[in-house]
Amino acid sequence: MVSDEFSPNPTENPLTQIVFTSNMISFNQEELLSQFPILSVKVHSNKRLVYLDSAATSQKPEVVMRAMNDFYEHANANIHRGIHALAELATEMYEKSRQKTADFIGASDASQIIFTRNTTESINLVAYSWGRKFLETGERILLTQMEHHSNLVPWYMLAEERGVKIDFIRVTDEGELDLEHYQQLLQTQPALVAFTHMSNVLGTINPAKEMIDLAHQAGALTLVDGAQAVPHFPVDVTDLNADFYAFSAHKMCGPNGIGVLYGRKKLLLEMPPFMGGGDMIKKVTFEGFSTNSIPYKFEAGTPAIAEGIGLGAAIDFLTSMGMQNVFDHESELAAYAFEVLTPIPGLAIIGPAPDRRGGVVSFTLQGIHPHDIAQILDREGIAVRAGHHCAMPLHQRFNLHASTRASLYLYNTKADLDALQQGLFKVIDTFK
Ligand code: PLP
Repeated sequence: MVSDEFSPNPTENPLTQIVFTSNMISFNQEELLSQFPILSVKVHSNKRLVYLDSAATSQKPEVVMRAMNDFYEHANANIHRGIHALAELATEMYEKSRQKTADFIGASDASQIIFTRNTTESINLVAYSWGRKFLETGERILLTQMEHHSNLVPWYMLAEERGVKIDFIRVTDEGELDLEHYQQLLQTQPALVAFTHMSNVLGTINPAKEMIDLAHQAGALTLVDGAQAVPHFPVDVTDLNADFYAFSAHKMCGPNGIGVLYGRKKLLLEMPPFMGGGDMIKKVTFEGFSTNSIPYKFEAGTPAIAEGIGLGAAIDFLTSMGMQNVFDHESELAAYAFEVLTPIPGLAIIGPAPDRRGGVVSFTLQGIHPHDIAQILDREGIAVRAGHHCAMPLHQRFNLHASTRASLYLYNTKADLDALQQGLFKVIDTFK
């Protein structure tokens, strides 16, 4: 039998012990770090790894790796099809993860959770299936100037193919959405508003609930890109009243290769399948096929089974930490990042004040290219990202070609940000 170890009871997880210090909540950091073996690896001849690239992908706790390993050691079989012990066990484990995912984001029914490969595939699924069925030439879609390419290119492709028109909600100089402009654009009666819950460059947390409300009043559906939200703060899709909501496991302590699309039931039932093949059908004859029920209608072929189980373990892990605690910890670190970075000569942070953003801090350093910054920091063991972060139009909006991004997660500490500050002083020294 498979041990239950990989699915820890949140109430029994020792990491939930929260340490209260000077009015702030912080995790039992030592124990937490011990859950992430990779954070003790040394880089570049014995330098401590300072990992500040979690917006690209998060590190994985041992419980997630163990869950996947356990699956391969004790339960590996294909799901939904086999009538044997392992197949039934594998199916049960995979479907349990779907239920955990539904509970984690407040979906009322697990059939509304479609497993995809990642956020990108989730958005593409909507653009292909819903977009190609329901959008006619001349109809409008609203996006924002702060979108990741994943929430731009699928719509550009649809626009090219179908003659759909795209408008962009402006971003203010402070890095927030211009909500007045949004209200004006809503008067053009768009069919869909697709926007990111949190910007992967500016860190801005958008007022998703208010935006969805306004979209609905204008008769538009909504798609929220939650790639940078679900890993970092509590998200309840029912409370938000979102029509579609997309995110990736690998940014939330889970494995690569599995993502989620939440959809409103009525919409999912009306939408045609995205891909054809095994599992998505009810019946196939020489004349044609009929489709399976949701969510299977959208899941053709053998899925990423171990990864689905890994996602379930990541959800257990994050639940045991408490998503509000994760957010509070990152907010405090974001404020500290401002404290240590703003005094650095020539450094400019892009985006709003720390109390209006999550744990993503992108900046420029006068006269020094972000790639040079990242390279010198790397030699100090500090992993940051440099470039356009898959948001070229947003960089264009700020007249930038690139920026350097430090992105935080629950395992980061103030010491990591002190190291970043020291590293940046070295960068400046190098270019003197
Ligand atoms: N949307 C946002 C806001 C992101 O930050 C990312 C990844 O960085 C994506 C979408 C795409 O995620 P994935 O590559 O997992 O599909």
